[in-house]
Amino acid sequence: MHREDYDIVIIGGGLAGLCTALHLQRHHIRILLIEKHPYPKHKVCGEYVSNEVLPYLNDLGIDPHVHGAVPISRFEISTREGETIESDLPLGGFGISRYSLDKLLFDALDSQIDVIFDTAVSIKYLNDEFIIDTQSKKHYKSRFVVGSYGKRSLLDKRLGRDFINKRTHWMAVKAHYDFDFPEDRVALHNFEGGYCGLSKTETGAVNACYLTTLRSFNKADGIEDFQRTVMSRNKKLQNFFKHARPLFEKPLSISQISFAKKSVIHNHIFMLGDSAGLIHPLCGNGMAIAIHSAKIFSELYLSEIHIKGANRQLLESAYEAVWKKTFSGRLITGARIQRLLLNDTASVFTYKAISRFPSILPYVIRKTHGTLMV
Ligand SMILES: Cc1cc2nc3c(=O)[nH]c(=O)nc-3n(C[C@H](O)[C@H](O)[C@H](O)COP(=O)(O)OP(=O)(O)OC[C@H]3O[C@@H](n4cnc5c(N)ncnc54)[C@H](O)[C@@H]3O)c2cc1C
Repeated sequence: MHREDYDIVIIGGGLAGLCTALHLQRHHIRILLIEKHPYPKHKVCGEYVSNEVLPYLNDLGIDPHVHGAVPISRFEISTREGETIESDLPLGGFGISRYSLDKLLFDALDSQIDVIFDTAVSIKYLNDEFIIDTQSKKHYKSRFVVGSYGKRSLLDKRLGRDFINKRTHWMAVKAHYDFDFPEDRVALHNFEGGYCGLSKTETGAVNACYLTTLRSFNKADGIEDFQRTVMSRNKKLQNFFKHARPLFEKPLSISQISFAKKSVIHNHIFMLGDSAGLIHPLCGNGMAIAIHSAKIFSELYLSEIHIKGANRQLLESAYEAVWKKTFSGRLITGARIQRLLLNDTASVFTYKAISRFPSILPYVIRKTHGTLMV
C-alpha cells in the first residue's frame, strides 16, 4: 500500500534517481520513486563509466565488477579516415550495459523506498509543498521533489523550461554486437557529423553508440545505409560494421538531444543528472556526473534539512552553488572539444597537434573528468 504524503518524490529512476534513493534509504525519510519503465531495459548510452564513481558506488553497496563490469584503461581516438592515436586513461573506467547497471541499483533499494512504475505528468508547487500527478491519474504530495528524469521529458515543456524550445539537430543510435575487440579499451571513431564509441560490456558484447547531426544522417537512407556509407569512410568503422554481428533485433535510436544550458533548480525542483545539464557524450562522463549529483544532493539534504532542519531556500542555494562549482567547467570544456572535433578544419589541426604531442590527450581527458568520489 503506497503512502501518499512524502518527504521527497524522486521523478525518474535512472542513475541519478536510483543513487539518490540508495543514499537516502535507512534515514527514515519517506521517499517515493516514480519511474516510467520497469527494469531491466536497454538505453542509448556509450556504457563506459569513469572510475571516479567507484568509491561512492561501493559505499552504496554496489560493486559493478562483481557483476562482470569490464575494467578499461586505454583510449583510442581516430580521424574521419581512421588514423588512430592511443593513450592511457588517467583514471580509467569500466564497461557495463545500462540494462545491468540500472537493474543492479534498483535491486539494491530496500523496502523504505516506495517505487511506482508510472509517468509523472505534472508537478505543481503551492504553499511550500508539491503535488505530483501521474499518467494513471494518481496524485502524490511531498515537501521536496528531485527531477532526475533525464535529458528531455514532456515535464520540461509543462514546467516551461527554456531549453525545450531551442531546436536541436542531434540524434544517437546504439546496439550491441559480437566482435573481437580489446577488453581494456574504449574507442572513439570520428565520421562526418559525429562520432561512434566502442567498448565491451559485462556480457562480452561490444556496445557501439554514436551521436550524429541530422544533417549528416539525412544524407543516407536509414541507419544501415548511414553506417555503410557515411560512417564507413572511417576504415576502423568500416571494419567494425563489416564484421560485427548485431545482437539486437534492431538498433535503438533517440533524437532531440539537447546540450543547451539548463536550470539546476526550477520552480523549487532539484534537478539532478541530465535534467540539470548534459555533458557531450565524447567525454564519457555523463553517468559519473549523474551519480555525483545524487551524492551532492543527498549529502546536503541530510545535513541541512534532516539534521539541522534548515529551510528550503538554504538547501536550494547550497545545491546550486556546489553543482556549478563541480560541473560547470567540465560541461564547458566538453562543448569546446565537441566543437573542435566536428569542425572540418579545426579537427585536422587538432589531430596533428595530438599526434605530435600525445600528452595533450590525457590532459584533456582530465579536464572533463572529476577525481575519485570519496
Ligand atoms: C549518445 C550518448 C552516449 C553516451 N555515452 C556515455 C558514456 O559512454 N559514458 C557516460 O558516462 N555517459 C554517457 N552518456 C550520458 C549518459 O547516458 C547520461 O548522462 C546518464 O544516463 C544520465 O543519467 P540520468 O539518471 O540523469 O538520466 P537517465 O539515465 O536518462 O534516467 C532518467 C530516467 O527517468 C525516467 N523518466 C523520464 N521521464 C519520466 C517521467 N515523466 N516520469 C517518470 N520517469 C521518467 C526514464 O525512463 C529514465 O529511466 C551518453 C549519452 C548519449 C546521448
